Amino acid sequence: MRTFFDFLPSGFTASDLFRVTGSQQLAIAFIAFIALSTSLSSSAQDLYDKKDIAHAKKAIEIAQKSDLAYDLIASLTSEVGPRPAGSENDAKAVAWAMAKLGAMGFDRVWKDPIKVDAWKRISGHADLVAPYQQHLAVAALGNSISTPAEGISAEVEYYENFDALKTDTSGRAKGKIVFVDNVFVRSRDGRGYGQAVPVRINGAIEASKRGAAAIVIRSVGTDSDRLPHTGTMRYDEKEAPPIPAAAISTPDGDLIRLIARERTKPGSKIAPLKIALHMKNSTTKGVDSHNVIAEIRGSEKPDEVIAIGGHLDSWDLGTGAIDDGAGVAITVATAKILKDMGVRPKRTIRVILFGNEENGLDGGRDYAAKYGKQKHQLIAESDLGAGSIYRMTTRVDEATRPWLKAIADVIAPLGIEWGENTGGGGPDFGPTVNGFGHPAAALSQDATKYFDIHHTANDTLDKIDPKEMKQNVAAWVAMVWLAAQADHSFSGPPKK
Ligand SMILES: [Zn+2]
Repeated sequence: MRTFFDFLPSGFTASDLFRVTGSQQLAIAFIAFIALSTSLSSSAQDLYDKKDIAHAKKAIEIAQKSDLAYDLIASLTSEVGPRPAGSENDAKAVAWAMAKLGAMGFDRVWKDPIKVDAWKRISGHADLVAPYQQHLAVAALGNSISTPAEGISAEVEYYENFDALKTDTSGRAKGKIVFVDNVFVRSRDGRGYGQAVPVRINGAIEASKRGAAAIVIRSVGTDSDRLPHTGTMRYDEKEAPPIPAAAISTPDGDLIRLIARERTKPGSKIAPLKIALHMKNSTTKGVDSHNVIAEIRGSEKPDEVIAIGGHLDSWDLGTGAIDDGAGVAITVATAKILKDMGVRPKRTIRVILFGNEENGLDGGRDYAAKYGKQKHQLIAESDLGAGSIYRMTTRVDEATRPWLKAIADVIAPLGIEWGENTGGGGPDFGPTVNGFGHPAAALSQDATKYFDIHHTANDTLDKIDPKEMKQNVAAWVAMVWLAAQADHSFSGPPKK
């Protein structure tokens, strides 16, 4: 806790107080008053039992020495690898999770069945065939239909961004392969993703409405590697017929941009761009998958739940290390460390490893449908990679904010700052948090480099820093423990 003297200029001591003038004394008295009220409002650590604070600090120490999270990602990525929803590997991942959690001694481990549409990438390649011959590094977007067996070979219509396509009434896309360029600005909180991703999700609908034969986008990524970023996309057959949709690597996007711009220069004799696109994919509807769930039952309020987790599925190109092996490992390690400390939490701690986040959010919707009405003390997901946590945000009512600020004080020494009340519970908990208004928190990871490898073949174990894993788990154990022990019910009307 801060004292009065922390608010005085450095080097200012108690004896200095008696050597100052009357007006200075008045000013200092005023500063003292402000300091006192500030320190009262920031003494939120007093909200929790001292034993619980001490237990949280002990958990932090244990987590900082634990290799468990890293070992879990190493195991999942090496023994199972890529885990697209509904695939054979998805079933292997569920079995992996049941075995791992089952061996950890939780009070209860179970799996909830869900149905998913299993989309599968079979083959794909693309070439720029005019005005110059170039190979393009391409990946079908998740859910994309195939091209005809002979491929689609068509002229390219260049759009600078998604808005340019959405507002185009010229008819120039008819029969063409629409190419949409895209800017993804790198940032620590990854906010550029929200701006860059709509074209991946809805681009095929807008291109098809304008008569396009296919859509190719610049990858939604911040890297300059020659690796395409896949990711989910959707059709709306009421709006427009499905057309094949793919992403090319960002350097290949640069190439298309360069040639398209050269062509627009006065006097240019460069022939139109033409791409030949071949893709084969398949979708099997209604395939079985699961959410895998483990619980430590609460001793005093077992019906009140702290729900944490990540998603077990991943895209097919990499091995799903940062997305979201990391979130699985961090939250499982959190529960395991707290369990092994041997003090039963007052409330129930539940870890959910969600099925099919990437290509339909089926696990998240199923959790909301089955458990959304239960009293949730706090909800939090880890699904923004494996970087260090730098900030804690919340989505709770004002009466609960001080209780979370108190948690933020405990994890502040890990380099974590206190954030706004504008957070959320993560993608998989979206249907639960938004649908039922439960309190949520986010331990935000540094996502500066996350979108370099997100959804690419580069999402592999070597991108995980064991030290950063430890820092993550250290923050999670403290947050989860204190939320479970709080005398205050966090549930209440959430701040919008
Ligand atoms: Zn994810």
